[in-house]
Amino acid sequence: MPIDATLPYDDQNVFAKILRGEIPSKRVYEDDHAVAFHDIAPVAPVHILVIPRGPYVSWDDFSARASDAEIAGFVRAIGHVAREHGLVAPGYRLLANIGGDAGQEVPHLHVHLFGGRPLGPMLA
Ligand code: IMP
Repeated sequence: MPIDATLPYDDQNVFAKILRGEIPSKRVYEDDHAVAFHDIAPVAPVHILVIPRGPYVSWDDFSARASDAEIAGFVRAIGHVAREHGLVAPGYRLLANIGGDAGQEVPHLHVHLFGGRPLGPMLA
């Protein structure tokens, strides 16, 4: 069920539990500010989620409250994962669902990184 991105951060959400190591994930990258792991239900040969470590629900929340170091770290982590998975030459897609209209399901900010096949046109 899509979430209301204006609600306060819920530290029992699934990505918070992944960050704390309470449930398993297939991590491909982590540093002080970001963690990346394989999506549990991939829709492309490469489907990785990159999340900030901090408690942010939405892009607007993150951009308003996160430190410059957190923002830089998150952005750099996404680029690092794309490079490490050989996606720069063939290309890849980044997607962030924010709030109900976008269908955001997990109330912890995340960017989907898709690649490994031609991805077709964006639908919206
Ligand atoms: P959203 O619709 O943008 O919020 O995407 C949430 C994503 O999280 C979906 O692609 C899910 O497959 C993925 N997901 C949900 N639970 C887990 C998990 O435990 N591990 C990895 N990915 C998950």
